[in-house]
Amino acid sequence: MKEKVALLARLLKESNRTVFFSGAGISTESGVPDFRSPGGIWDRFDPDEMTFQRFVSEVKCRRSYWELFRICWKEFDGVLPNPAHKAIAELEKLGKLEGVITQNVDGLHQAAGSSPDRVFELHGTMWEIRCLQCGRDMPWKEAHEKLERGEEIENCPGCGGLYKPATIAFGQSLPLETLRQAQELSVHCELFVSVGSSLVVYPAARLPEVAAKSGGKLVIINMEKTPLDDLAHLIIRGRAGEVMSEVMREMGLW
Ligand code: NAD
Repeated sequence: MKEKVALLARLLKESNRTVFFSGAGISTESGVPDFRSPGGIWDRFDPDEMTFQRFVSEVKCRRSYWELFRICWKEFDGVLPNPAHKAIAELEKLGKLEGVITQNVDGLHQAAGSSPDRVFELHGTMWEIRCLQCGRDMPWKEAHEKLERGEEIENCPGCGGLYKPATIAFGQSLPLETLRQAQELSVHCELFVSVGSSLVVYPAARLPEVAAKSGGKLVIINMEKTPLDDLAHLIIRGRAGEVMSEVMREMGLW
């Protein structure tokens, strides 16, 4: 482990174009569970009901979707970034980072100090709600209070369209411009560090693949194996916060 941490510290020092890529595993040490582990969201909700198509067409599925968010807002409002988020934010401040591409919707990179324009949220954010038709926003706290009172979320007062949390549901397209920027970063990076992702959710998982196949060095920090391990220059099995703290100490930054 010590040698691997030292190698990552050296790679980070040497690289002029580093990109981080994060998944749900980076936030578990902050108290936000990943979806697939036992007791996670998919034990409580049926993923088949959570598709975009069913959200727009079935009242029952829409209610389940809002219920999922009622729980998430209640549980995750106020959770704090952990050392992995903080290390990434600090590396950016030191000019060591092009950006962080994240599959997460929890906003913890920005909370840790990463510049919002350097965070590429592939799956949107849970802290915004938007009308699917005209793009009008509704504050999440307003929606949360309504749901807590047992009320329904009404349609947009401007155009009558459906409101939806600004996260990407199964079957919904990823934000095109964000995806384009993320692809560009991945193709041109020297070092691509994936932290806390199972690398099974596509198209996001194509980015580490693209980075490695375009000549970037792929580093994977994750608790368990991933399908892209064979492409990796370095694999560190461990907890994201602990590993990144050691890396920062090794670099003499913490
Ligand atoms: P995932 O749930 O598929 O996989 C998480 C991976 O992280 C697992 O392989 C697990 O072994 C690993 N892991 C867990 N804790 C870890 C830790 N402390 N250190 C290192 N590794 C750890 O997550 P995913 O690949 O990001 O895909 C799930 C999808 O669900 C994503 O697309 C994301 O949008 C969404 N999601 C987001 C959040 C969030 O915003 N925090 C939480 C759950 C799910």
